[in-house]
Amino acid sequence: MKYRSTRGSKDTKNAAQAVIQGIAQDKGLFVPESIPQLPFALEDMKEKTYQEIAFDVIRSFFTDYTEAELQECVNGAYDKKFEAADIVPMVKAGDVYFLELYHGKTAAFKDMALSILPYLMTTAMKKEKEDKKIVILTATSGDTGKAALEGFTDVPNTEIIVFYPNEGVSQVQERQMTTQEGENTHVFAIRGNFDDAQTGVKKIFNDSDFAEELAKLGCKLSSANSINIGRLIPQVAYYVYAYAKLLEKGAIGIGDKINIVVPTGNFGNILAAYYAKEMGIPVGKLICASNENKVLTDFINTGIYDVKRDFYLTNSPSMDILISSNLERLLYHLSGDNGAEIAALMESLEKNKQYEVNDSMKKGLSEFWACYANMDETNAAIGRMYRENGYLMDTHTAVGYKVYEDYRNETGDQTVTVIASTASAYKFADSVAASIGLDIEQDGFVNVRALHEKTGVKIPAGLKGLETKKIRHKEVLDKEDLKAAVRDALK
Ligand SMILES: *Cc1c(COP(=O)(O)O)cnc(C)c1O
Repeated sequence: MKYRSTRGSKDTKNAAQAVIQGIAQDKGLFVPESIPQLPFALEDMKEKTYQEIAFDVIRSFFTDYTEAELQECVNGAYDKKFEAADIVPMVKAGDVYFLELYHGKTAAFKDMALSILPYLMTTAMKKEKEDKKIVILTATSGDTGKAALEGFTDVPNTEIIVFYPNEGVSQVQERQMTTQEGENTHVFAIRGNFDDAQTGVKKIFNDSDFAEELAKLGCKLSSANSINIGRLIPQVAYYVYAYAKLLEKGAIGIGDKINIVVPTGNFGNILAAYYAKEMGIPVGKLICASNENKVLTDFINTGIYDVKRDFYLTNSPSMDILISSNLERLLYHLSGDNGAEIAALMESLEKNKQYEVNDSMKKGLSEFWACYANMDETNAAIGRMYRENGYLMDTHTAVGYKVYEDYRNETGDQTVTVIASTASAYKFADSVAASIGLDIEQDGFVNVRALHEKTGVKIPAGLKGLETKKIRHKEVLDKEDLKAAVRDALK
């Protein structure tokens, strides 16, 4: 299987090369030449473990890795560091299934891919005889940063540098990152939002003079954001697994369609669901849920992507994004692999802050259904779900649930539905505690304890003791100064 750029350059890579490079030279994202079919029949998937499905899915895409190499990656990633024995529990609450993707070390779904990416990366470095140190640059809206730090800490021959929006993440998220230990970790707050961080990082990737400068230091840049294909492909596995679990529970029969709801920011997680569908998982609608930064809702409903709008800081900060990177991959697939067309759309986005896709791509978008939830609706959904079913959702998952309710009300569609549950409620304890009727304090850690006392839901191990841990990273940068920070970090 070869990988090519969404922006049409002829150059192809194998998976290992694409994982190391992170982003294509022409600024596009790597996509597989074709999406493989599931390597097993639907009737044979019922008894499979998470590790078996992850292996089969990743193996279908990353054909240049040997079976032994991938087995080692999968076994190293999906082990006891997950607090759920089956890695991804599926919990029914009310009339819907929650696919709990947050039982890894950092209590968000980013662990699903970022616990395996370091293995895929170091294996790739060996395979490709890469002799440079790999410097992972990461822009984060709150959860990717910590998951990437946790994954790459003290991995030999790597450095990890994270940029997060100052005042744009929750207290727990910030403390998780600023207390990170490890010799090769660097964390910076920037005066700006996630889009500024992501744009700044992409600019560094595309700076060939800087790449040369780093090469002289024996370094090479890569990415741990979902622009890296090594992030996206492992995420496909849990949607395949979700279908196996529903079969096992007897909730569906073989071949029955399911709907999947994904609270969306950078469009990575929902794109993984689209890949699962393309591989042969029977999916009806892919339901895209946004918060007030509803650029994707508008896009899916009109075919016009327009970032000329206000940016909101919400209580689902990991979705406070206006420039959704991975949408570029979907557009590429919907255009019939027309790289020139995608390059033109992305140029329009850069120059005019908007683009409109053609009619055939608009037609392709009808596989998706999109809506959004504002903060009041999100909080109300958390309260309602807890009162009626005793189930605790985080703010992002609640955005998904509210949009699911809208979808049901509007369409009457009764298809069995899975909501991607993307984070532990404790990461956003202030909002969640208030939503279930608790009096909240200024200090988020007090709210974590109150939430636990009230609900009895276990606090993830990774969040315990954060409050008293030493803060090791304090620097705040202007958004123009990212390159200088990288230079300094590598000295
Ligand atoms: C990253 C994140 C999202 C958004 O995922 P995308 O892949 O960027 O669409 C949603 N919820 C949580 C908790 C996240 O950390």
